Amino acid sequence: MNGNRTFTMIKPDAVGNGHIGNILKDIQDAGFKIIAMKFTRLSEGQAGKFYEVHKERPFYGELVSYMSSGPIVAAILEKDEAVASFRTLIGATDPTKAEPGTIRAKYAESIAANAVHGSDSDENAAIEGNFFFSALEQVG
Ligand code: UDP
Ligand code: MG
Repeated sequence: MNGNRTFTMIKPDAVGNGHIGNILKDIQDAGFKIIAMKFTRLSEGQAGKFYEVHKERPFYGELVSYMSSGPIVAAILEKDEAVASFRTLIGATDPTKAEPGTIRAKYAESIAANAVHGSDSDENAAIEGNFFFSALEQVG
C-alpha cells in the first residue's frame, strides 16, 4: 500500500443507526476511491488485536468490547494524501469537538461510539488494511 491509501471502518454505532449509505456517500463525494470493502463483525480477540497499540490506555477494554458489539464495514480507500485527507473528512475523535459537516459531527454518538475509524499514518494504513484484506481482495 502506498501513501495514497488509508483504511476505515464504519463502527457498530453508525451501522446500527442506519448510516452506512450516508457515510459511504460522504466518502465518495470527498473523492475517495474504494479499493476494498467488506461487511463483517469482529470477535473480541480480533478487536483486541486490531487496537493492540492502545492496550495501555484506560479505554482499551471498553473499546474492544464496543468494537465487537455489532457489525462493521471495513474498507481501503485511495486518494492523494489519503490519511490526512480522511482525518479531515471524519473530524476530531470527540464528536462534540469535530468540525461541523464532518462525518463524526454528523453521525457519531460519543467519543467511544464515534461512527468511523481512520488510520493515523501511512504505515498503520497498510497494517490495518492488510489485517482485513488479502492482496487478492485489494482490487480497486
Ligand atoms: N476512544 C475512547 N475514549 C477516548 C479516546 C478514544 O473510547 O478517550 C476510542 C474511540 O472509539 C477512538 C478509538 O478509541 O476512535 C481510538 O482512539 P484514537 O485516539 O486513536 O482516536 P482516533 O484515531 O480514532 O480519532
Ligand atoms: Mg487512532
